[in-house]
Amino acid sequence: MLFTYVIGGFGAWAAALMLLIAVQGDSLNRGGLARSALGFALLGAGMVTSGVAERAARWPLLVLALTAVVGTAVIYRALRPLVGARPVAITRLALEIGVPSLALLLAWFAGPRSFALTFHALCLAVSLGITWTMRRALVAPRNAAEAAVAVTLLVYACSWIVALDAAIRHDGPEHRHLLYVEAPLLPAYAVLYALLPLLVGALVLNLANARLHYRLRRYADIDELTGLLTRRALLERAAVWQADVLARGRLPAVLLLDVDHFKPINDTHGHERGDEVLRAVSGRLRGTLRTGTPLARWGGEEFLVLLDASGMEGAGAAAERMRAAVGGTPFRFGESRLSVTASIGVAAWAAGDDFTNAVAEADTALYSAKRAGRDQAHVAEPA
Ligand code: GH3
Ligand code: MG
Ligand code: MG
Repeated sequence: MLFTYVIGGFGAWAAALMLLIAVQGDSLNRGGLARSALGFALLGAGMVTSGVAERAARWPLLVLALTAVVGTAVIYRALRPLVGARPVAITRLALEIGVPSLALLLAWFAGPRSFALTFHALCLAVSLGITWTMRRALVAPRNAAEAAVAVTLLVYACSWIVALDAAIRHDGPEHRHLLYVEAPLLPAYAVLYALLPLLVGALVLNLANARLHYRLRRYADIDELTGLLTRRALLERAAVWQADVLARGRLPAVLLLDVDHFKPINDTHGHERGDEVLRAVSGRLRGTLRTGTPLARWGGEEFLVLLDASGMEGAGAAAERMRAAVGGTPFRFGESRLSVTASIGVAAWAAGDDFTNAVAEADTALYSAKRAGRDQAHVAEPA
């Protein structure tokens, strides 16, 4: 069992090293990764110390117990933001470290049995507490990394139930390795504690990667200014969307909207007001559409909608509603009012037709609306 602590301790140090290396390339999770590296380094120090110390010495037990409690609290604090939980305040962390450490010290002076029981009870309480606060990751994980961490923590917590039970029933001399489970369970515990630090370290890395992935995905898919889909995200969804609409016997249509005389708005009222107009237009467009209808910011002041229509007439009516939603009432910005209109082109996106063709047809219809005086919706002639 002592050899287990040496392996587990070096595993914890290896985990700390992996996490520190990951810090270099991950600005989003830098703080969490660095803090958990610190936790693993502490944990490793305690495990290795108690594993290699002289066999007769008692003090390594206290070092092991203290570093286990402090290291776990530090790792847990680092882990929370990675699973979308609120970070723990520093005062709460101090409590979470201070109270168990004090309890361990008091128990240490009270005698070996008090110490063993206090240590086991604390480990069970802490691991159950962590599992409880991670329950969302257990019942509804957002990704495989979260599920793996939650299940591992649950197994870890359960291991302390058995270990505490064994410690309560044990009435012989104090074990040098502070673990009282007996064969056939002892080898399983040896393997668990030897592997756990490195495993959890790898899982923390997975979590950080998953978080980074989602963040980058959001940057790529959501337009920063308006919160609408980006052109890239819409292009990615378009083919599946069209197949689904056709399968339901409906007509897929493309609607291209361009804000009229937008450049003068920027020139007269400033670029920031221009941004506000784009946000306000986006809001009104969204308001006219069913939730789930793909709506993207196609370019500067151009928007593209994928319309699930009953026919071209229905698509034209939807375009007219959107035109009226933008141009019908002036926008209010504090005291000032600003009239903004938009022109729209609509085209069918027939089965087997290229999306770029459908967009080009909608664009042609849009320019005919512009030429005809703006603030109107034109439907492309069927090809
Ligand atoms: P038209 O009626 O013919 O469409 O005229 P327009 O002025 O709307 O068209 P034009 O293409 O000349 O101008 C578009 C302007 O949109 C120019 C560009 O500076 C502005 N623009 C593009 N993206 C943004 C943005 O993110 N924020 C702001 N404020 N302006 C933008
Ligand atoms: Mg334009
Ligand atoms: Mg324009």
